[in-house]
Amino acid sequence: MRLESFAEGQWVAGRDDGPVLLSAVNGEPIASISSHGLNFADMVAYARRVGGPGLRKMTFHQRAAMLKALAKGLMENKKAFYALSTSTGATRADSWVDIDGGISTLFVYSGKGRRELPDDQVYIDGPPEIISRNGTFVGQHIFVPLRGVAVHINAFNFPCWGMLEKLAPTLLAGMPAIVKPASSTAYLTELMVRSIVDLDILPAGALQLICGSTGDLLSQLDCQDVVAFTGSKTTGDKLRQHPNILAQSVRFTAETDSLNCAILGPDAVAGTAEFDLCVDEIVKEITSKAGQKCTAIRRIIAPRESSAELVSELAKRLSCIRLGNPASKEIDMGALASLAQREEVRSRISELVAEGEIVYGDTEHFDVIDADAEKGAFFAPVLLHCDRPMTAAAPHRVEAFGPVATVLPYNDLGEAEELARKGEGSLAGSIYTYDDDVARRLVLAIAPYHGRLVLINRDCAEESTGHGSPLPHLVHGGPGRAGGGEELGGIRGVMHYMQRTALQGTPSMLTETTHQWIRGAREAGPAQHPFRLTFEEIEIGHTLHTKEREITIEDIERFAELSGDHFYAHMNEDDAARNPFFDGRVAHGYFLVSAAAGLFVDAPLGPVLANYGLDNLRFAKPVNPGDRIKVRLTCKQKTYREGLGYGEVCWDTDVTNQDGDSVAAYDVLTMVATAEKMQEILGA
Ligand code: NAP
Repeated sequence: MRLESFAEGQWVAGRDDGPVLLSAVNGEPIASISSHGLNFADMVAYARRVGGPGLRKMTFHQRAAMLKALAKGLMENKKAFYALSTSTGATRADSWVDIDGGISTLFVYSGKGRRELPDDQVYIDGPPEIISRNGTFVGQHIFVPLRGVAVHINAFNFPCWGMLEKLAPTLLAGMPAIVKPASSTAYLTELMVRSIVDLDILPAGALQLICGSTGDLLSQLDCQDVVAFTGSKTTGDKLRQHPNILAQSVRFTAETDSLNCAILGPDAVAGTAEFDLCVDEIVKEITSKAGQKCTAIRRIIAPRESSAELVSELAKRLSCIRLGNPASKEIDMGALASLAQREEVRSRISELVAEGEIVYGDTEHFDVIDADAEKGAFFAPVLLHCDRPMTAAAPHRVEAFGPVATVLPYNDLGEAEELARKGEGSLAGSIYTYDDDVARRLVLAIAPYHGRLVLINRDCAEESTGHGSPLPHLVHGGPGRAGGGEELGGIRGVMHYMQRTALQGTPSMLTETTHQWIRGAREAGPAQHPFRLTFEEIEIGHTLHTKEREITIEDIERFAELSGDHFYAHMNEDDAARNPFFDGRVAHGYFLVSAAAGLFVDAPLGPVLANYGLDNLRFAKPVNPGDRIKVRLTCKQKTYREGLGYGEVCWDTDVTNQDGDSVAAYDVLTMVATAEKMQEILGA
């Protein structure tokens, strides 16, 4: 079988056979791979001409719905992915991380897209910036999708997750992608892409696939394109320095090698819960995916007095690991991805041995269950110990991308910090301690060198997602050796595929551009109270100005009685006057918010279904008895909620006193019925 690429909407086989990919389990041929004959310039042009416009005309919410449909479709086809995944050497548990983990990333981005992004094509970044005295000229940061293509170059270890974790934020941003999986496991990515194509959910040109080399692809890119690379530091550094990438300032992000550490706190001696948790986590990280995880624990930084016990406990646990055919239920650990990878791991261990000793495992001899140890890429766990880690170089430099880790003893916490930093930038680190001071000290010392830190102790152990699992909600990436890139992190990951632009102009023009009302922009006065309008009828800028209400001492006393809030500033004239902010009794802020609602609310049954909260509430100035307040309420933003019969309407609210000074400002959040829903309500 030949793997095919998906280029310009067609499945295309390479012109030649290319190398043959072998099963990691039994060495049998699976497919050949070649991209020879593909026209990479045409692929890029197709993404720009067809894929980009198709995605950009959708709103964030439409793209989020598309991701959800895609995730559901892939879920239904996942049996086939699991079956093929075994050939990569993955156990069922490993495949779950890759396949279900990848699909769940689509689900998370879909949910976040609908909750955290507007139903629009522009993302507004932060509040407007006031940059002129009279407010006629304001600033607003926005994000819009880049006009090019995202080139995703992935590593071999997660053929599904690796693709989907990059694809989800890219498509949500509105950018098409060309995916290039690592050759050795590309057959699984190809199968998943076939499934995506058959589902016919993505617009044309949104996704293309290259099985084989990328030819002159990088020479086709310009400032509107992105390269997101995952793989070895050597390849990452080479691609980053590609003359065209440099000349065109192509956005380049890299996730590369990482000598991630686990630090056992001085308090976590044998017998404590944290010692046991550390052992559990190390064994999990050494064995899951046969240690072929960029986030796996490679360096175990432990108090010198605990290290012998730690080694002995780890050796005991690792000796129970059953290595063998990943299809078998009897085993705990599968094979490496290829025989070449096994040789690579052996050769890295020989470098590590120069400055340490193997304290558990044998690189040549081990038992393999239900498979041929020579034909399959099997390799048993190896634990090393380096007695002088402060002066050694290899444990902090050499990544053996397999079931391999090194114990590094420290004499005091300062040394532990320094050892962690010797990794020169990592994706993930974990700290095992029940001492909050130790945790804080270590975090402050090593966080700048890590993309993610996990603090594990007895209180969170049960729910902890562990050292090695990147989550779509949290950033994945790290400084230095880890590539200096960042992915995921919820909506932060979407922004890597968008351009941030600082807009300056009049509030009205910025409002028209962003579809979010800015103070000072034109107001429109609808003929009716805006609360009488359905979701469709309300327009951004629709404004209500209320009549005035005087705040009296009786109001304050009645509110204190009703709420039980008898704070002295509201109740005692002399004490209130001693407070540096007040010159006598002041109204409760919460009373002002309630009184404001009393001024702007339109009482009878109508399209406003509920007030579900307030955002950005600030009390700007005290209100004394005798002051008169009034309210301006302006529709700031509308978000339609598909299929629910309502949309969310955010109202910019300003409560002012008799001098026109703002005393309270906030956003009122309401759910407003659509016309159809309103008819249903009135008819019922
Ligand atoms: P690799 O050899 O660097 O390959 C990574 C990707 O780059 C593959 O798709 C590879 O394709 C491609 N590639 C290689 N040379 C290229 C070139 N000249 N032009 C364009 N693409 C090129 O790494 P790997 O062996 O697949 O993965 C293992 C390494 O990745 C480990 O060091 C591991 O730490 C790291 N990794 C990091 C992360 C992370 O998130 N930081 C995740 C997983 C793995 P071919 O396969 O066709 O050569």
